[in-house]
Amino acid sequence: MRKHIVAGNWKMNNGLIQTETLISELKQQEQTSDAEVMIAPSFTNLWHAFESTRQHDIEVVAQNMHFSDKGAYTGEVSAGMLKSLGIKTVILGHSERRAYYNETDESLAKKVDAALQNNMRIIFCFGEELSDRKSGNEETVVENQIKNALFHLEASAFKNIVLAYEPVWAIGTGETASPEQAQDMHAFIRKTLANNYGNDTAESVSILYGGSVKPNNAKEIFSKPDVDGGLIGGASLKAEDFYAIVNAF
Ligand code: PEP
Repeated sequence: MRKHIVAGNWKMNNGLIQTETLISELKQQEQTSDAEVMIAPSFTNLWHAFESTRQHDIEVVAQNMHFSDKGAYTGEVSAGMLKSLGIKTVILGHSERRAYYNETDESLAKKVDAALQNNMRIIFCFGEELSDRKSGNEETVVENQIKNALFHLEASAFKNIVLAYEPVWAIGTGETASPEQAQDMHAFIRKTLANNYGNDTAESVSILYGGSVKPNNAKEIFSKPDVDGGLIGGASLKAEDFYAIVNAF
C-alpha cells in the first residue's frame, strides 16, 4: 500500500529559537492519522531539528543539496554532509529552486543520481506554470519534467522516490488546484509511470500535492484516490494548522 505523507517545507523561515519553539509545539500535537510526518528546516537548523525530534514520529528532511560529493562549491551542501547528520530524505526540484537558482531538468537528474547513490530518499517536485495551464500544456510540461529528471532510473529506484506535484500558480498564492484538478494530474502522472515502468511501480509511488494546502481544504484534496499526501509551505509554520493537515487523512 502507498504511504500517506505530509511534509512541511519551512523554506527560508525560522532561526534557531523559532525552530526550537515550533518543534516543541509540533511535539505537543496529537496525531490521529497514519501519515508519515516530515519537516524541512533550513540547513542551519537541521542538526538541532534532527536531535530534538529523535523520540518523535517526525522525520527531518533537507530542502536541497548539491550533486557533487565535495569540492569547490561555495555555499553548497552535499548528500554526504546531510547523511553525516542522519538526514535520509531531501526535497529536490522545488519550483523556487528552479525559478531563482536556475535548476534545470538536467541538473536535477544529477542531484537525483547523487541522492540515490547516497541511499537517500527524494521528494521530487515539479509542476506547470499558469501560462502552461492556460494554454492546455500542463500534462506535456509535467511529463517532460518527470521524464527528463527521472526516467533514466531503473524501476527499483522508485522505492526511494516520492513525487510532489506542485502547480506553480498555486504555491504561496492562496489559490489551490481544485481537488478534481489535482486528482486528474495525479492520475496522469501515475499513468505516465505505469507506461514506462509498469503498474506495480506506478501503484507503489506516493504522489503528494502541494500548493496552498490549508486545514480547510486538506480533507477534500486528500480524499482523492491518487493524492497520497501533501507538501505544505505556509501552513507548516503553525503547529496546529500543520497537524490539522496531517490529521486530514
Ligand atoms: C510549497 O512551497 O511547496 C508550497 C506548497 O507552499 P504553500 O503551501 O505555501 O503554497
